[in-house]
Amino acid sequence: MSYLMNTYARQPVAFVRGEGVWLWDEAGNKYLDALAGVAVNGLGHAHPKLTQAICEQVNNLIHTSNIYGVLRQEQLAERLCALSGMDKVFFCNSGCEANEAAIKLARLYGHHKGIATPTIIVMEKAFHGRTMATLTATGSRKVQAGFEPLLTGFARVPYNDVEAVRQVAEHNHDVVAVLVEPIQGEGGIKIPDADYLHALRQICDDKGWLLMLDEVQSGIGRTGTWFGFQHTDVVPDVMTLAKGLGSGVPVGACVARGAAADVFQPGNHGSTFGGNPLACTAGLATLQVLEEDQLLGNATQIGGQIVEGFKQSLAGVAGIKQIRGVGMMIGIELDRPCGELVKLALAQRLLINVTADNVIRLVPPLVMREAEAQHLIAGLSPIIREFLGRASG
Ligand SMILES: *Cc1c(COP(=O)(O)O)cnc(C)c1O
Repeated sequence: MSYLMNTYARQPVAFVRGEGVWLWDEAGNKYLDALAGVAVNGLGHAHPKLTQAICEQVNNLIHTSNIYGVLRQEQLAERLCALSGMDKVFFCNSGCEANEAAIKLARLYGHHKGIATPTIIVMEKAFHGRTMATLTATGSRKVQAGFEPLLTGFARVPYNDVEAVRQVAEHNHDVVAVLVEPIQGEGGIKIPDADYLHALRQICDDKGWLLMLDEVQSGIGRTGTWFGFQHTDVVPDVMTLAKGLGSGVPVGACVARGAAADVFQPGNHGSTFGGNPLACTAGLATLQVLEEDQLLGNATQIGGQIVEGFKQSLAGVAGIKQIRGVGMMIGIELDRPCGELVKLALAQRLLINVTADNVIRLVPPLVMREAEAQHLIAGLSPIIREFLGRASG
């Protein structure tokens, strides 16, 4: 019996050591990690530059609180703004908290404009977290069921549907913001049309709404650019980050630009741990290594090879609907539920994930090399082929 609350359907394995894209369990078995702690360990495991920076910081200072200046926080904020073209940062500890900050920011922005019941447009199949506001914003009944009453102040439209947003714009005069993932992660690695964000940006500009991008999964090099929106000509008003930012040390950020950057004033929002010296050192070291080791380019190159490799090895296999990806954010969509594949892959010492019931999600460490990508393709393809053959036969 376990003393842990029963919140997770865990796989029957625990890891004790990692290096690069590899993990070792208690018995000494070695696994290829194509999940990276759910898009967190971009630098892989135990990256020497990251561990050194963290160790030095721990020896010096871990936490002092936001009652005082935090030098590392100033440095990480400056770096994130330089990389994104944004202006100001609020630090927290997770993705849902980053989105909570964005939702509060949008509501306050609305109240400043005299809108008493501000509304945020959110998307079907979106995932924004599991706090009350973020599970309300999330477009999944599974996440919400049992936690009613949900919050008010959200209007939901289909993802990748600009016309639906225009419809809401015509009828709802309380809208203050659009919250959207540049690529839906939990929703099944859904890549919108190339002009989607651009069209949303135009509507937001016309209406005076904030364009708020949830880059918790797509940010920090995951798609081969620093942030997912950098594949377009769009710059958001608000962007949220977490997952890859601290390489496993909990840190989240709500990044804002222009008028949105000055909405919060003392007393409006805060976090005890948010942006402490340890978390920000992990963030700074992560960004530095991504740059020094040219991992954005690597994510583009190896991610492309993974997509192409699976397209070749699964060509003509009945049951494969689509193989798609941007950088190291990759989905293989099947025509049927395939959660069972996680266990089958684990038995072959491959760590993968299935999301939205029928999409194999691959979000490997950005340090993955060609030989390791080939190992993944060669190992996983026969498992998928056998699963599809068996399930249909
Ligand atoms: C994981 C995720 C979140 C939630 O992050 P937590 O750190 O688990 O709270 C929010 N948005 C997106 C897009 C995510 O992928």
